[in-house]
Amino acid sequence: MVVELISVGTELLLGNIVNTNAQYLSQKCAGLGLSVYYQSCVGDNAGRLAEAIRLAMSRCDVVILGGGLGPTEDDITKETAASVLGLELVEDAHTKERIKAYMGKGKEIPENNWKQAMVPVGAKVLDNDNGTAPGLIMEKDGTRLILLPGPPNELIPMFQESVIPYLKEIASSAIFSVMVKSCGIGESKVASMLEDIIGAQTNPTIATYAKTGEVDIRVTASASTEKEAKKLVKPVVEKIKERLKEAVFTTDEDVTLEEEVVRLLDKYELTLVTAESCTGGLLGGRLVNVPGVSDVYKAGFITYSNKAKRKYLDVSKNTLKKYGAVSKETAKEMAKGGVFQTDADICVAITGLAGPQGATDEKPVGLVYIACYIDDKVQVKEYHFKGNRNKVREQAVVRALDTVRRCILDKYQETARK
Ligand code: ATP
Repeated sequence: MVVELISVGTELLLGNIVNTNAQYLSQKCAGLGLSVYYQSCVGDNAGRLAEAIRLAMSRCDVVILGGGLGPTEDDITKETAASVLGLELVEDAHTKERIKAYMGKGKEIPENNWKQAMVPVGAKVLDNDNGTAPGLIMEKDGTRLILLPGPPNELIPMFQESVIPYLKEIASSAIFSVMVKSCGIGESKVASMLEDIIGAQTNPTIATYAKTGEVDIRVTASASTEKEAKKLVKPVVEKIKERLKEAVFTTDEDVTLEEEVVRLLDKYELTLVTAESCTGGLLGGRLVNVPGVSDVYKAGFITYSNKAKRKYLDVSKNTLKKYGAVSKETAKEMAKGGVFQTDADICVAITGLAGPQGATDEKPVGLVYIACYIDDKVQVKEYHFKGNRNKVREQAVVRALDTVRRCILDKYQETARK
């Protein structure tokens, strides 16, 4: 089934907001085995929006529109879509009641909110638990139009709860896909390790996607039932996991690397501390993205200067003088210092040269040391990351998260083997 996305909103065209809805919807459609051939962005202009809808309807099975369902005059998506399909708008009593309930009993509801209770004749209404605008599904000559509200906190739950089941229902075959997420091996290496599996693909299909420091592998099968599709996917996922071993950190599409690290810390009742130099708190920030992290994350040191490394992490003057701030020795002492200052179980430390200045022949931009202190032992690795300042820092953060993950896995596999 071919899907086309249309994002509506002048602020998107002006670059005032980032089109995260398009990214979310594209990823979800890919996961459902749907083909997205085109996506476009249109301002709040009825003529141009109508043109975009007509064009999309001429070349796909399902058009998903996001945004422009609000109560104001410039919210024109529903009116424009209805007029392209030749449908009248009528008041929907159920939506009117839902809006009343959502706004709160006894509260005065602005007159223009009732605009949102008007729906095209025959449209399927999708309730919005997080806002007033309902989602809508309309159909003409076999092509479906799905209208979703723009705010991501409304669009995402509506897509998850109402649109995914609907798309599965109308799809001619069942699609099932699993995302194998890996870390610590580059995309070309992953591709060569899976060459024969990828080469033999028909159903399921296998696609790799590289992100900073991570490679995702999507395995998608189509069959007459979801059960059949799952059966086709399972052995291929197992094969990929066997090949990539501990580089695979999850097969749950929605789990991030930092969530997996926090899950492991939680599972083994371990506490973590971070000691950062060139990443300046980025690592701590990624960890703090995870709800509930406070149970396992004790502290984050940002020790950018040598003085701070000495004062807060007890890195010796001699080490800094002899080996420099960007060195194996300093990274190790930072990790050790982090544990001793806080009594945490693990400390991961990052020191490196993010550039563009400060490079020497022995210490080029991108040189980063990551150390991890656990069980009175400290391990350290040297990395040479490519790219600009941001890229180097992002890669260092991903590697540091992966280092913690692997240290925990090592510790508990060892215990299990003993
Ligand atoms: P509202 O009822 O809030 O007016 P709406 O359906 O009319 O909802 P818009 O007015 O188009 O939606 O957008 C409302 C807000 O939602 C935007 O200001 C922006 O913060 C967010 N938003 C809209 N479209 C996108 C998008 N494609 N990606 C990310 N955020 C978006």
